[in-house]
Amino acid sequence: MLLRLARWLRALGYDTLDCPGAEDRELVHRANTDKRCLLTRDRALLRELRPKASLYITSQQPLEQLTQVVADAGLPKPNLVFSRCLLCNTPLHRVDVQAPLPEYAAHLTHQPRKRCPQCQRLYWFGAHARRMEMALHRAGLS
Ligand SMILES: [Zn+2]
Repeated sequence: MLLRLARWLRALGYDTLDCPGAEDRELVHRANTDKRCLLTRDRALLRELRPKASLYITSQQPLEQLTQVVADAGLPKPNLVFSRCLLCNTPLHRVDVQAPLPEYAAHLTHQPRKRCPQCQRLYWFGAHARRMEMALHRAGLS
């Protein structure tokens, strides 16, 4: 239920896992084992399973959620914006601009600048990234 928040956190460079389909007990076990802070909007989960570190997310709006997490978890100011894959959390690698593009990206006029070594997704910083930067700025996070 917090997948959009997870993407925003990754966009700011914070190491953020999501586990779609995982049972609540698995989530809590994983968070405790990895020493991660569990973010949730599920009060029953917090009450019943008592993860070691957790944050109850109050808003339903992803940018408000992001602002809350940065403030309440005391995260350091983001300085690695657009450094992680938004989908799988893996740190991105720079793309060699001389390397041939995969067929699905061959029509693009802008070269991608980064690639996820895990899921192979390509990233380039056009209109979508600029809209994200403006949203972060409006939220006071850049
Ligand atoms: Zn990826």
